[in-house]
Amino acid sequence: MNISLVLLNDTLRWHDNPLLNACEGPKAAVIVLNKAAFFGRQYGLPRANLQRLQQQIAVIAALKNTLAAKHIGLITLVGDTASCISTLAGELKAEQLYCAEPVASYEYAAINRLKQTLNVTQLDCNSLLGDSLRPNLAMMPDSFTPFRKQREPLLQVSEPAMQAPDQNWLLPAQTEPYNSAFMQLSQQYHTYSTAGIGSEASALARLQHYIWQQQHILHYKQTRNQLMGENYASFFSVPLSLGSLSVRCSWQQIVSFEQQVQANDSTYWLKFELLWREFFRWQFRKYANLWFSKGAIKGQPDFSQPQLSKAQLKQFNLWCQGNTGEPFIDANMRLLNQTGLMSNRGRQNVASYLLHNLDIDWRLGAAYFEQRLLDYDCASNWGNWAYIAGTGNSTQRQFNISKQAQMYDPQGAFVKAMLPSALS
Ligand SMILES: Cc1cc2nc3c(=O)[nH]c(=O)nc-3n(C[C@H](O)[C@H](O)[C@H](O)COP(=O)(O)OP(=O)(O)OC[C@H]3O[C@@H](n4cnc5c(N)ncnc54)[C@H](O)[C@@H]3O)c2cc1C
Repeated sequence: MNISLVLLNDTLRWHDNPLLNACEGPKAAVIVLNKAAFFGRQYGLPRANLQRLQQQIAVIAALKNTLAAKHIGLITLVGDTASCISTLAGELKAEQLYCAEPVASYEYAAINRLKQTLNVTQLDCNSLLGDSLRPNLAMMPDSFTPFRKQREPLLQVSEPAMQAPDQNWLLPAQTEPYNSAFMQLSQQYHTYSTAGIGSEASALARLQHYIWQQQHILHYKQTRNQLMGENYASFFSVPLSLGSLSVRCSWQQIVSFEQQVQANDSTYWLKFELLWREFFRWQFRKYANLWFSKGAIKGQPDFSQPQLSKAQLKQFNLWCQGNTGEPFIDANMRLLNQTGLMSNRGRQNVASYLLHNLDIDWRLGAAYFEQRLLDYDCASNWGNWAYIAGTGNSTQRQFNISKQAQMYDPQGAFVKAMLPSALS
């Protein structure tokens, strides 16, 4: 049997998933939970905390149920992506692999390894621009505004992929024997009963709620700088980062809303922010692993470990815990530690504080965010950190923390909520 493997690691969804109708003939749906990304360490820090691992397991389990309801089995493996796929391909005598085009350099490395033994087809599944930038990637502007001005007028977001009914998938009963390692992991790490805001079902419900039902989108530009709450921003980042929400679908829902209900500065601004996401993704494809160098895309490549003096190590740990003594910073860090999320305004401030007030290597801040953020996305995280450090797509950005606190938390309500003792 000449079977194809369809790797769903970056598209944990049924809607608008081009991989689900990428090939005809017998095929097996596969996900590999990459052990290094969840159990590895970088710069001495764990790469993911328990909450992130639990979310990942729960969202994979949710997709498995969705597929099972359509009589499609899902093979869930745990380990190194390239090794797991190679072994599985050997067992199933598969020669073809279909997967989403990656963004981060280590994902490219895995795909390149697999290309030595398999015919690999990569599909663009999670971007707005599709393939339009690919031929001229080397010429892509390194600043957001010229990128936006160049691309926005030409942007034609493709229609979401439709799922053709197809009987050629391995069935749930056929894939179950491969799932023991994942089942063990699920049992060991007591997952949430639901996948929180990360699952496809929650993401689609959120899209409806935020755009259509409550129309919070109409005030997005005025509320997006708030620090806490449920509707000041879209909260699309978690499912977008997991691939359980399609960015193209999100974009098209906004456009439909603009056409059918109302277009204003706020509806435009949500698309503007989605273009920031797009910008960093293509920047990552352009500069690959340079993003992990000390000077990122500027200066000589230097992949040596960040160095900290004893005093800096202490300051870094206090920053992580939300114990710097600067209430606005501490409140934001505690929110991150408690919920796995932080507003964009908060992220900019805590990053600026770590880099420019404490003078600590930006990569350590990025690594701590990677460990904690439930919306961790390689390009958006490392790209934004480098941006504030001045090593990426901007000169350095330093925020005046007390001015920011006054402007965005004038009554101290946010600090009070997070640090009840700070203002008493
Ligand atoms: C230091 C730092 C680290 C960050 N790390 C991440 C990360 O790991 N993952 C992540 O998704 N975002 C990251 N961001 C960007 C931004 O803070 C989050 O996307 C946003 O707060 C998520 O909330 P939301 O979905 O409600 O955003 P909204 O304000 O509703 O924006 C809508 C969408 O636009 C995109 N977006 C918004 N702002 C940015 C931005 N500055 N850069 C790239 N995309 C953006 C996101 O996909 C977001 O979901 C980071 C920003 C900073 C300053």
